[in-house]
Amino acid sequence: MSLDKPAANALSEDFKRERKLSFLENLYLPEIFKGLWYSFKQMFAPTFTMKYPEEKWDPPSIFRGRPVLVEDNGKERCVACGLCARACPPLAISMQANEDEEDPKERYPDFFEINMLRCIYCGYCEEVCPEEAIVMSQDYDIVFESREEAVYDKERLLVPKEDLKDRLDFLREYKNRQFGQFWDFQEENNIHSVRDRDTDWNTGLSLVDMLEQQKKNDATKASSHWSV
Ligand code: SF4
Ligand code: SF4
Repeated sequence: MSLDKPAANALSEDFKRERKLSFLENLYLPEIFKGLWYSFKQMFAPTFTMKYPEEKWDPPSIFRGRPVLVEDNGKERCVACGLCARACPPLAISMQANEDEEDPKERYPDFFEINMLRCIYCGYCEEVCPEEAIVMSQDYDIVFESREEAVYDKERLLVPKEDLKDRLDFLREYKNRQFGQFWDFQEENNIHSVRDRDTDWNTGLSLVDMLEQQKKNDATKASSHWSV
């Protein structure tokens, strides 16, 4: 084929746009009945569409619906580390961390918001979260009437872990397959307290006290002759 001389130039005057119709096609009626017959046959064909919203689709656990925060024993698992906000490509997540000395978890998000107008359901937040605190739910029924309503706050994002069981089970299996080993994900609400860290070392001191002690030790002049 020569590129200089294209076989068919649709812009040229003598380009043939219509094919020659047969005698029956020229009569039109046979073609119309053929079309009606085809439509009639489709009425009895199996349907693959759903009458949404009356009929709802139940997505499989691999489905990535709207991201939600996992509520564990009435509390968010999130420790407001900010990794998900950092990983989120369209910068849809914002939060502010706070601390609660009485709570063994200590850190929690004072506010946590996801702008659902920005979210692209990529699942990166779920991938990076070290606490399994944010997961992609099976909820695809997302409705809002204004930009303000599209910003989901902590109350709207929190979902009890029992309702997310399918996804959490799926993640466990998926991540285990990725790592090629059994990954012992923490079941109970995540304990990040530095107060309780010395249970293995049996020093009787919390990590904070240990660090304080370390500072004091560093500041004390060594009494041994062996020290330089
Ligand atoms: S799913 Fe993706 S876009 Fe949506 S909040 Fe998570 S990281 Fe951001
Ligand atoms: S949801 Fe996970 S990654 Fe995001 S701030 Fe909370 S703990 Fe960190």
